[in-house]
Amino acid sequence: MIIDSDPPKESKAMRAGPSQEEIRRHNLGALLRHVHLGGPTSRAELTNRMGLNRSTIMALTADLTAAGLVREELPRETGRAGRPSLVVRPESARVYVFAFDVGVDRMVAARVGLGGTILDRRETVRRRGSFSMEEIVGPLAAFARQMHRRTRPDTVCVGVAAAFPGGVGRDDGIIRFGPNMVTVEDVPFAEEMTRRLAFGLPVAVGNDANLAALAEQTRGVGVGCRDLVYLHGDVGIGGGVIVNGQLLGGHLGFGGEVGHMIVNPGRGRLCSCGSLGCLEAEVGERALLEAAGRFGPKVGVDAVRAVVDAADRGDVVAQAALSRVGDWLGLGGRQPRQPLQPGDDRVRGHAPGDLPGVGRPGPQPSRRRRPAAVPRAPAPAHLGPRR
Ligand SMILES: [Zn+2]
Repeated sequence: MIIDSDPPKESKAMRAGPSQEEIRRHNLGALLRHVHLGGPTSRAELTNRMGLNRSTIMALTADLTAAGLVREELPRETGRAGRPSLVVRPESARVYVFAFDVGVDRMVAARVGLGGTILDRRETVRRRGSFSMEEIVGPLAAFARQMHRRTRPDTVCVGVAAAFPGGVGRDDGIIRFGPNMVTVEDVPFAEEMTRRLAFGLPVAVGNDANLAALAEQTRGVGVGCRDLVYLHGDVGIGGGVIVNGQLLGGHLGFGGEVGHMIVNPGRGRLCSCGSLGCLEAEVGERALLEAAGRFGPKVGVDAVRAVVDAADRGDVVAQAALSRVGDWLGLGGRQPRQPLQPGDDRVRGHAPGDLPGVGRPGPQPSRRRRPAAVPRAPAPAHLGPRR
């Protein structure tokens, strides 16, 4: 037996508790996060939310103002008598991040400031089909350099991240698969972007639907939701699942990949992943256009919208196509919801609100009983481009 009568110095240090400076820095970060995510907030509201006294809030905002991260101003209208509480507003331009979105049809790069303000943005349309890493990294790096050259010298880039529609390794930013984008596996996307940008910051890469789920939870319709299922649909079907406030990553980081969940075994359509009857194969854009007899050179949002418009005009083939895809979407969308019982579902895609099966149970062998607890019908997401 070993009895340690003289604990190591770190243990003594750990028992000492945080210093005044550490508490101040923590509170500065917490206040900045409040206004970054919640937008302009009065000092009185910050006092309530953070549980600190007025003089501490005043000192913290003074420090953040001196650092150029917030500014204080009089509220426009209070409707109350007495001296109004100053409003603390994020200064969007002082610090920023670069955000990249790689899509099947387009690639977007943006410089985003505090408060989520888009300060600069570039976009390029691309042909569909597989392409090399250089064809992804090259244009995005060029966009970032263009935007970086336009920044003021007193501004600071504090982070770089990219969203990719495929399986991305949990910790390494390696694209493990991207059935609708790249034909090769294990593409070191994060490493190559970091090298090409040379900003001195590592580039974080994640699955697009996973990041969208986090975004909705952080500043979209999922604010306050501890459990959330997010579905995104265009060419493929992506998903992000948040359980008890945490993104469901799974062992390799591919959690929430609902698009390749098999919903129609045996007679299902061939999926880009090689399986039969994946949700993506049954409800993706191609499935809809083929069912409507409209699959051809014209694809994308406009082609999907044309099917919806035709259905609205009474075209029975278009109506049947939407109904078929909607039924499978209803079935597939229900699978992650049933065991997880999320407080919220968010749906984003080409025309989610137009698919009649969204929110329905979908085809079932038996409709004898309503399940004991079905989460409420999904709602459209708030963030991302309006479709
Ligand atoms: Zn598949």
